[in-house]
Amino acid sequence: DRGRVVVVGGGFGGATAARFLARAGHNVTLVERDPAFVTCPFSNTVLAGLNPLEAITFDWSGLRADGVTLVQDEATGVDDGSLALASGDPLPFDRLILSPGIDLRYGALPGYDEAAAQIMPHAWKAGAQTALLRAQLEAMEDGGTVVITAPANPYRCPPGPYERASLIADYLTREKPASKILILDAKEAFSKQPLFEEAWATLYPGMIEWVPPSMGGNVAEVDPGTMTVATDFMSYTPAVANVIPPQRAAAIAQDAGVADETGWCPVSGLTFESDLRPNIHVIGDACFPGAMPKSAFSANAQAKVTAQAIDAIFRGADPVSPKLMNTCYSLAGPDYGFTVAGVYGEADGKLFELEEAGGISPVGAPPEVRSAEADYARSWYATITHESVG
Ligand code: FAD
Repeated sequence: DRGRVVVVGGGFGGATAARFLARAGHNVTLVERDPAFVTCPFSNTVLAGLNPLEAITFDWSGLRADGVTLVQDEATGVDDGSLALASGDPLPFDRLILSPGIDLRYGALPGYDEAAAQIMPHAWKAGAQTALLRAQLEAMEDGGTVVITAPANPYRCPPGPYERASLIADYLTREKPASKILILDAKEAFSKQPLFEEAWATLYPGMIEWVPPSMGGNVAEVDPGTMTVATDFMSYTPAVANVIPPQRAAAIAQDAGVADETGWCPVSGLTFESDLRPNIHVIGDACFPGAMPKSAFSANAQAKVTAQAIDAIFRGADPVSPKLMNTCYSLAGPDYGFTVAGVYGEADGKLFELEEAGGISPVGAPPEVRSAEADYARSWYATITHESVG
């Protein structure tokens, strides 16, 4: 009953799944292309100069201690029962878990490709892109404009662009108070909007402007050569352009044949097994189980459900219908946090959000509540990194 499990991706989903299956006595190999993992959660604090990049960088040492075999390589495809690698020999598996995260859909926004990302960073995968955007903010003159473009749903971390605007505003308020932040959005409403708007009015009055499509915020084209961000109505030439383009499940999910025409991977909400190919489970940002936002919290929760389901399958038992939770903390300032929470049940193999469960932090709460939630955000980060990539 001790099955061979291969996991692709050492991020929040993959590292958690690998660790829980290894602890249950299974033979687990984790394939990850990068030598270290830099977390997207808390990367906005690095942009604000509140943390160095090292504070959000991890090395999976705890996974090795739990008995996971780590292979640093690039997964390139899936044949029947084995995972193909760029340099090593194929890895045979009984069950494969893909948690490869996202790819940016270069070309979906005219003018935005990999070369453009070196001038107009997305910083939607943490690491070099985070360092680049931070360097640009540091080099900017006081009085400059930072443009952030936010994509349509679904994408990685729904509140992320607005947390980013807030924490960049924290930095600019301290160091370059005549500067402005313009958010050009592809959607009419966003996650925790009343809480962000209250925070912006309280902490950074007049600094952040949010422009939805109905007010001309939809970005039609960018030109890194002239530093232009063009909507259907206006052309902007900001000092710093943070372009967050549309996304899809990472390349290996497309190559393995588990992504559909949406670019995401339809899976069972009971086991996270692919609807398109047997014995392959997809978790984290890459999957579409019916409901659940794309967050590290979700990826970690889905990983545990998947580990239990695979353990049950190897033992010949029935997987148990799960209840999953997601909580997304956002920091609007170093001592100003709030949350959105949701609970998800499974019916007919798909997840749905439970009514009357979850919700957002209260609007109009006193500073002690915001400051306590900022502390909870830091505790959450310490806990989840320790349980997954630490
Ligand atoms: P990842 O964590 O991205 O892991 C994927 C891994 O797979 C990577 O290490 C990658 O190198 C590897 N990989 C991919 N393809 C291959 C291949 N072919 N071969 C080998 N390795 C491969 N979530 C929260 O819950 N809370 C937050 O506060 C929060 N803040 C965020 C802030 C920002 C600015 C951003 C951008 C995101 C934030 N998120 C947050 C979202 C969170 O980062 C993602 O939801 C989470 O990382 C998804 O986990 P994952 O396992 O699906 O993918």
